This record gives sequence, C-alpha cells and structure tokens, in this order.
Amino acid sequence: MDIFTSMHEHEQLVFCNDPDSGLKAIIAIHNTTLGPALGGCRMMPYQSFDAALEDVLRLSKGMTYKCAAADVDFGGGKSVIIGDPVKDKSPALFRAFGQFVESLKGRFYTGTDMGTAPEDFVHSKKETNCIVGIPKEYGGSGDSSIPTALGVIYSLRAVNRRLWGRDYLDGKTIAVQGLGKVGSKVAEMLLKEGASLYVTDISKNAVHSFLESCKEFSGSVKAVSGQDIYSVPADIFVPCALGGIINDHTIEVLKAKAVAGSANNQLLYARHGEVLWERGILYAPDYIVNAGGLIQVADELYGPNNDRVLKKTQGIYNSLLEVFENSERDSICTAKAADMYCEKKIQSGKNRSSFFSHYKRPKWDIHI
Ligand code: NAD
Repeated sequence: MDIFTSMHEHEQLVFCNDPDSGLKAIIAIHNTTLGPALGGCRMMPYQSFDAALEDVLRLSKGMTYKCAAADVDFGGGKSVIIGDPVKDKSPALFRAFGQFVESLKGRFYTGTDMGTAPEDFVHSKKETNCIVGIPKEYGGSGDSSIPTALGVIYSLRAVNRRLWGRDYLDGKTIAVQGLGKVGSKVAEMLLKEGASLYVTDISKNAVHSFLESCKEFSGSVKAVSGQDIYSVPADIFVPCALGGIINDHTIEVLKAKAVAGSANNQLLYARHGEVLWERGILYAPDYIVNAGGLIQVADELYGPNNDRVLKKTQGIYNSLLEVFENSERDSICTAKAADMYCEKKIQSGKNRSSFFSHYKRPKWDIHI
C-alpha cells in the first residue's frame, strides 16, 4: 500500500509499536493550521491494519472541521489503538501511548473516545501533558455531556429562530431519540422550557428512569417504540443515540421540519444532506451541534472554568444561523454550507503569522 496516497492532505501519521505493553496504535494529524491537533483515542479490535488506518484518517479530518467550527484554536487529529478494550488494556499500554504522544512535542492532544475511558488516560498523563478529558479529581473538566446537551439546546433555538422566528421552544413538539447522558439532559431542559416531547430509547430502563425523573411533566411526554420516533408529528427530530439514522428509509417517513441532535455522523451518506434540503427539512450539521464537549476539553488547557465553557458553547447558536444563511444564499444544502464555513476559517488561519513557535507548541502549556 502507498501510505502517502492514503494520506491525501493529512500532515502526519505516526505508527506506535511497543511490544512490551502490546501497544499498536496510529496517530493521524490532519491539519494544524488553527493550532495543535486535537482528537480522541479510539480502541477497537480492528479487523485489519487497513481498517484502522482508514478510520483514523477519516476521524482526524472530521476533527479539523469540528475544531474550526467550534473556534477552539486547535486543528484536527485522532488516534486509534488496535486492540480489544475488554481484554487488552493495561496501565503500561496507556503509559506507552502517552510516551508516543509526548514525542510529538505538543503537536497532538488526545483523550477518551469509543473503547477508552477517562481513567485510562490518567496513566498516559504520567508521560505527557498533552491529555485532555481526564477525571475531575485529576484536574480534568468532568462530564462533557453537560455542555454537549446545552449546545443541542442552543442549536434547537437557532433552528426555531430560522424556521419560526423565535428562540424559546415552548409550544414546540420535539422527538428525542436516545435518553442517555446527552439525550436525557436535552429532554429535561426542553420540558422545563415548555416543549412537548416524544421520546424513545432501546433501553427500557433508560425510558423508565427518564419518565420517573420528570413525573411533573408527564402530560407533556409520550414514550414511543423504536422506529416510530421518525414518523411522530414532531416539529424537530433530535437524534441523540447513534449515527446513520438519516437515510433513504427514515427520510421517507420523517414528519419533522428540522433535524438537530448530538449523535455523530447522522447522515448515512453525504447525499442525504442534499435529500433533506431538497425536501425542505432543515438539517443542523451534527459536528456543529454537538461541539459542547469538544469546547469543554479544549478549554481545559486554560484551567477549568465552567462559565467560560458555557459562554463559548452559546456561540453554536450564531454559527448555525450563519450556516443556515449561507446555505440559502448559495443554494446549497446546510451540510455543504457547514463544510465551506469551516474551510473558510482554516483558509483565513493560514494567513496568521507565527501563530505557534517552531514546534507549533502552545504557549499555554499546562503543568500538573
Ligand atoms: P450514551 O451512550 O450515554 O446514550 C446513548 C443512548 O442511546 C443510550 O441510552 C442507548 O440505549 C440509546 N440508543 C442506542 N441505540 C438506540 C436506538 N437504535 N434507538 C434509540 N435509542 C438508542 O451516549 P451520549 O453520551 O448520550 O451520546 C449520545 C450521542 O451523542 C452519541 O452519538 C455520541 O457519540 C454523541 N456525542 C456525545 C457527546 C458527549 O459529550 N457525551 C459529545 C459529542 C457527541
């Protein structure tokens, strides 16, 4: 395989091999125009080296756009550890991984993603300061689902403003898919704001505990099963569970006038962004909507401060309104308008002189 051909426009790939701990990992740095690369570390028993490489290249590029949209002074990167998160984890493995991250001298910051937990990176942190999202008791910023949920609420207000001319969601009917860490918080905030909800989760426990926790609003919530969530008569569909849920089948039955939720990779294929647009369904691009968690971990480098994180998360409202306006002005779907919005920011970042020193090492390095 020609690695350079696979890399397309990526800046750097690092292959990490530590036979003593069993670590086999790949770090991909996509673009550092706006700052050092930031992106989580995913651990999976990939079927092949090619599958791991493809995943890390795809995810790191996504982080460049996500960081640009969130205005966090970071570029895009990602890492994958090839291994079974149930059997193959050890403190030595995460320390070895931390040493590889440290070897990049501040060009790459990482933390938890699918298959890894904040506690794993407490070990990596012994080797490098370039770790974010560790537990609060170790100096991290804690549960990222709080700013993520808040970002979803600001996004829903932007959608409401765009479609119905006002921010507050009282009187609206909203369909929430997934009542996990983010979805349950979003649903609770919506009820408090006066919205009516349809909710669903594949976990009966999740539905039960949500209904228990919001008994006072019982007249405003209806639980529905699985696929029914797409066809309920809601104003906005809020996916907070899994990706790929906007596809040929679901678009066909979707009654909502807008889609805005935290789930990653909501469009099964890029063309589904076009299909939504052609049907007059307003899509709030997922990587802008769900940036609250990213804003929180990026902010850790300045020292924990909730107020600052929440203030920056509010910016999601204006970013979305701008993307919606650009989409209308240029007659392109909102997914495409979001990508162009980020590409413009990256392009203008190229004109900044000496933003970082020789190694692009941040000036606000943290010391613990
Ligand atoms: P979570 O695991 O806490 O909750 C997900 C919920 O979705 C679970 O209750 C699960 O039972 C439910 N679910 C799974 N499949 C379903 C299905 N087919 N139908 C209905 N419900 C289903 O995860 P979370 O942290 O709440 O994140 C939700 C989504 O937001 C994920 O896609 C995640 O990648 C994304 N996201 C989360 C954050 C964050 O800060 N937690 C940040 C950015 C993006």
